[in-house]
Amino acid sequence: MLERTFSIIKPDAVAAGLSGAILAEIDQAGFRFVAIKKESITKREAEGFYAVHREKPFFSSLTDFMSSGPLFLMVLEKDNAITDLRKLMGATNPANAEEGTIRKKFARSLQENAIHGSDAPETAAFEIGYWFAGYELI
Ligand code: UDP
Ligand code: MG
Repeated sequence: MLERTFSIIKPDAVAAGLSGAILAEIDQAGFRFVAIKKESITKREAEGFYAVHREKPFFSSLTDFMSSGPLFLMVLEKDNAITDLRKLMGATNPANAEEGTIRKKFARSLQENAIHGSDAPETAAFEIGYWFAGYELI
């Protein structure tokens, strides 16, 4: 089923000059770039995006990191986009990520792990709507 997911190239990867390599991985995996924009987000915006993690011990550090520099916000489309992007990304902790995944190749640490991808259809719908207006999603 043709599906959309939401993704971020995180500030660690953008700062390290890895955006092009990560975009190429996503492109080669067959995703269509529905929308893409480079932005620097505020801590408050990061807190709203990661509200589901508000009670976690890493919440403050994570939202500092996500607001520390430019990132790429993206909406990606393909069959089974949500599951397929999670597979392409690899495990949250790059130490546990499979060979060939984006996090295995490009992530620095559990927190600075290069890429975000929605984990379920409801999450994808919330995340796409959080960062993009309808007219941007054509
Ligand atoms: N994270 C962290 N410490 C942890 C777990 C997660 O800093 O112990 C960060 C990491 O950047 C991760 C994000 O919080 O990508 C969201 O965590 P989640 O468990 O949702 O992982 P993901 O869905 O990104 O794989
Ligand atoms: Mg998650």
